[in-house]
Amino acid sequence: MSQSHPDPDRPPMLVVFSGPSGVGKDTVIREVKASGFDIHHVVTCTTRPPRAAEIDGRDYYFVSNDEFSRMIAANELLEYADVHGRRYGTPIREVRQAFERRQDALLKIDVQGGLQVKRRIPQAVFVFLAPPTPAGLLARLNRRQTESREELEQRTRDANFELSQRDAYDYVIVNYEDDVASAADELKCVITAERLRVHRQPIDL
Ligand code: 5GP
Repeated sequence: MSQSHPDPDRPPMLVVFSGPSGVGKDTVIREVKASGFDIHHVVTCTTRPPRAAEIDGRDYYFVSNDEFSRMIAANELLEYADVHGRRYGTPIREVRQAFERRQDALLKIDVQGGLQVKRRIPQAVFVFLAPPTPAGLLARLNRRQTESREELEQRTRDANFELSQRDAYDYVIVNYEDDVASAADELKCVITAERLRVHRQPIDL
C-alpha cells in the first residue's frame, strides 16, 4: 500500500490496537511491520520474565515488581493493567518520543488498558481485533494444555469480559485463521484513513 505524504501540520496520532488475549494481535502487528508501513510500535513494560528469543527493549522492557510500582508512583505510565497475574504498562515517555519525531504511535495492549487510554485520550484511534467467533477463541484457550484448571477458568472469564467491550472501540477487525494478511491490510487501511482526516485533535501527554 502506498503511503500518503505526511502533512507537517497534522498532529501525530495514537492508535490503540487491542483485543482479547490469544486473538493474534502480535502476529498482525508483525505483518504490518514487515510490510514496511511507517508507524512507531510502542514498546511497553512488563513484570513477566522474557520468553525465549524475546529481547529487552525490543519486545518489552522487562522490569521488576518494585520498578513497576515506582513507575506508577512517579506517574510514568499512560495506563497499566494486571493481565493473568502479571503487570503490564505503557511508559508515557515511549509515546512522547514518537510524537516528538512527529511519528504516529501504535500501541498493542489488552482491553483493560485500552479502556483506560480511552478515558484519558479520547481522541486516540481505537481498533479492536476480534476472533471469527467467541466460541473459537474459548476453544483455542482450552486446547492449550499449558494452564491449570483454575487458570483456564480465569482466562475464560477474562476473555468473555474482553469480548464484551468491543463496542467501546471505533473499529473492529476480524482475525480469520490463516488470513493474517487481510487483518494487517485492514489495520493499515484504518490508519491511512485516519491520517487523511481533515480535523484531528492534538494529544497532550
Ligand atoms: P504477553 O505476555 O502474551 O506478551 O501479553 C499478554 C497481554 O498483555 C497481551 O494481550 C498484550 O497485548 C498485553 N499487553 C502488553 N503490553 C501491555 C501494556 O503495556 N498494557 C496493557 N494494558 N496490556 C499490555
